[in-house]
Amino acid sequence: MPSSIDSQWFKTCESHWGSVRAFNIFAVAEHAQHIQGAFSLHLLKRVIEDLPEQPLVRGLSHKTETELGVVWFELVGHTDKQDRMWLDLRIVTKASLVCQRCLAPFIFELDEKVTFHLVRRPSQVESDADDIDPDAPERLLGLGRFDLMSLIEDQVILGLPYVPKHDVCPGLKFEQTEPLAIEVDIPVKVSPFNVLKNLKKKP
Ligand SMILES: [Zn+2]
Repeated sequence: MPSSIDSQWFKTCESHWGSVRAFNIFAVAEHAQHIQGAFSLHLLKRVIEDLPEQPLVRGLSHKTETELGVVWFELVGHTDKQDRMWLDLRIVTKASLVCQRCLAPFIFELDEKVTFHLVRRPSQVESDADDIDPDAPERLLGLGRFDLMSLIEDQVILGLPYVPKHDVCPGLKFEQTEPLAIEVDIPVKVSPFNVLKNLKKKP
């Protein structure tokens, strides 16, 4: 099971600072390995090229006050009773985006959790089971030398909003006068960054 996010989670990630080399992903699942790390968002070139300028974090001593420009991640492997291989990936990062409604910058907090069914052959990636169960976990084709950075990059791209917008634009808050037709209780999500803020307050 992946660990829950607390200040120790961030510390453990940061103790493995830097880009991740390709490695044997099957061993991670088969031996139930647990990998944590952190690196500069600027290492994800495909993410950076579509974003407004992000702070460049070269090392932990250069971390910005707001923690922008850092990616933290955790990968946990396991197998099940049918000897299928599984990977749980969690990615936490913050990016500075520009609201497409009011054009003001804002900070987007990304906290992605995704489970992959790891397979060895390309033919296993697509299967009839996908047609029956749309909620089937995504299959991931493993390689002897697997590029985790590229997988993290894909997940960050998927997790960032396609059209970034404030929930409520600060300059436009009096414009929306129509009451909502339905009131829905939305569970309050605890942001992993609140953990980070508390961590930073400690001497
Ligand atoms: Zn806005």
